[in-house]
Amino acid sequence: MSVFEHAAFRNHEKVLFVADEASGLKAILAVHSTVRGPAIGGCRMWRYTTSDEALTDVLRLSEGMSYKNIMADLPIGGGKSVIMRPGGDFDRTALFEAFGRALNALNGEYLSAEDVGVSPADLDAAARHTKHLVGLSSGTGDPSPVTARGVFFGIQVAAQRALGGDLKGVKVAVQGATGHVGAYLVRHLAEAGVELILADINETALNALADEVGATIVDKDAIYDVEADVFAPCALGAVVNPDTIDRFKFKAIAGAANNQLSTPHMGAELQKRGILYAPDYVINAGGIINVMGDLDPQFDERWVDGKLQGLKATLGEILDRSDAQGRPANLIADEIARQRIEDARAGGKRAA
Ligand code: NAD
Repeated sequence: MSVFEHAAFRNHEKVLFVADEASGLKAILAVHSTVRGPAIGGCRMWRYTTSDEALTDVLRLSEGMSYKNIMADLPIGGGKSVIMRPGGDFDRTALFEAFGRALNALNGEYLSAEDVGVSPADLDAAARHTKHLVGLSSGTGDPSPVTARGVFFGIQVAAQRALGGDLKGVKVAVQGATGHVGAYLVRHLAEAGVELILADINETALNALADEVGATIVDKDAIYDVEADVFAPCALGAVVNPDTIDRFKFKAIAGAANNQLSTPHMGAELQKRGILYAPDYVINAGGIINVMGDLDPQFDERWVDGKLQGLKATLGEILDRSDAQGRPANLIADEIARQRIEDARAGGKRAA
């Protein structure tokens, strides 16, 4: 396995490999950037088949957190951790206690939170051995309502740009409608007078939500084909891919899911088809904005509201540049993020 030569290594500051034989923990903690403050990003537990696969995932996710955090102009950097899920039965508490001890090795340069495959109870176990955690149930807790508000604002901006008006009567297709973020988003959209088309694999919850807000339900595979103005992916990554893109009749895509484009090139393909894309990490930053309250009480509700409004302005700036330069919005967002990280690094060096 190569690390420094890895295609996704891209200026990481630190990568820590941890193995704890007693608990079976095999984890990789990646710190992409601390130039603006401690690196923050969740811990993902996944059944990786090889450590190469885990390394690729953690490096990509960690750099992505730097982009998300700097685009929201937060005084933090970007990092991420992954745990290779042990096969067979294992002691979850012991595993996460070992993960907590592993965090201490980075002395607060990296603070972890929850991500896919990790529960609040897992973080509670880790918290018995470390203070380098955010988003605990004893702190700011579930970030999803704030993420949903940010995504709602993103949809407002996208609809304004792509359709030229507010959300009343606009048709929005939400994938993953009953999820943590999806359900809050659906209720915001319903309040704004949106005509909703919903899909989820959780049928019971979907029926109840659709009844509550007066929405239409479609099969999970039919969501890509519906006649809707806006598509809001709030379930899986890579839903904009060569198999789905030609089915879209949408005018805009704006949702909560991370890594919605299967490859960056999909941004250009959307642009070619006249479909506006709101870069995912720009509009789904509400969750990370919310956990800032765990670092300092100055990051209170008013501050969070201001930051959410800031997401709208940032998306507007990206779409303006995309229009002016005739280039895809995802590439413009990546460029702005990289430039901000470089500027912060250069500023840090000058200050030192
Ligand atoms: P979640 O697991 O609570 O919700 C996902 C929903 O998608 C579930 O209701 C699930 O049943 C549904 N689903 C799964 N496969 C599906 C399919 N094939 N078709 C339709 N529905 C399907 O997760 P969440 O916390 O709501 O996060 C949703 C997305 O937003 C994820 O990509 C996550 O990474 C991203 N995100 C979440 C937050 C947050 O604050 N929770 C912040 C930033 C980004």
